[in-house]
Amino acid sequence: MINIAIDGYSSCGKSTLAKALARTLGYIYIDTGAMYRAVALYALDHGFIHPDGTIDQEGLINALPSLHIDFKYSNDTGRSDVFLNGVSVESRIRNMQIAELASRISQIRAVRNKLQQLQRGIAHKKGVVMDGRDIGTVIMPDAELKIFMTADPEIRALRRYEELKAAGKETSLEEVRNNQVKRDYEDTHRAEDPLRKASDALVLDNSALSPDEQLKLALDWVKKKSKQVAEV
Ligand code: C5P
Repeated sequence: MINIAIDGYSSCGKSTLAKALARTLGYIYIDTGAMYRAVALYALDHGFIHPDGTIDQEGLINALPSLHIDFKYSNDTGRSDVFLNGVSVESRIRNMQIAELASRISQIRAVRNKLQQLQRGIAHKKGVVMDGRDIGTVIMPDAELKIFMTADPEIRALRRYEELKAAGKETSLEEVRNNQVKRDYEDTHRAEDPLRKASDALVLDNSALSPDEQLKLALDWVKKKSKQVAEV
């Protein structure tokens, strides 16, 4: 077994690929974006977002010790759901308000420290697929396979728009596009663990690939990397 680190821009299919890899290989899948989204939800629910939208950083940082995040496999959905203080928050974190808030909250060093400690604890084992923005660079720098995902921005916006529409969430393509541009900018320009391609990551541009095609490509890479590990 190896470890697989997947990083990339917003809405370029990281979790689709990560889930498919974990299912096919029998690995554990950890969606680190869901952890930042859960902290964003906590901040919103506990009054750490001021009426003008700014974050009460001090209040949130002081509250971090009473915030517990974990994942539990759900037989109903067939995936691991993220739990915040014992309650599944999956249905409340998959929207653009939380995505935008998560992107700002993830710039707070103390928040990153807390979540990264959890993530490193999980990455300690082998057979883990983890996706996010700093997995190949910070959390699993020794992962045997690192994938950096990208896709044409317009295609990404359209895919995410269709996904939100299918889930019954009211939005416009323009709103989705603006959210994506803002998040990509913030994630690549922030001071704390910005999104970067690890020097040894393989680039996967899925603009013209179906989910099955990208899975096949990634599984070929897994096979090659596993063979290299076995030969050492
Ligand atoms: O991947 P997802 O869109 O769910 O992530 C939400 C936000 O959380 C990202 O825009 C990013 O700012 C932040 N994030 C991060 N580091 C990670 C995963 C997510 O900073 N490893």
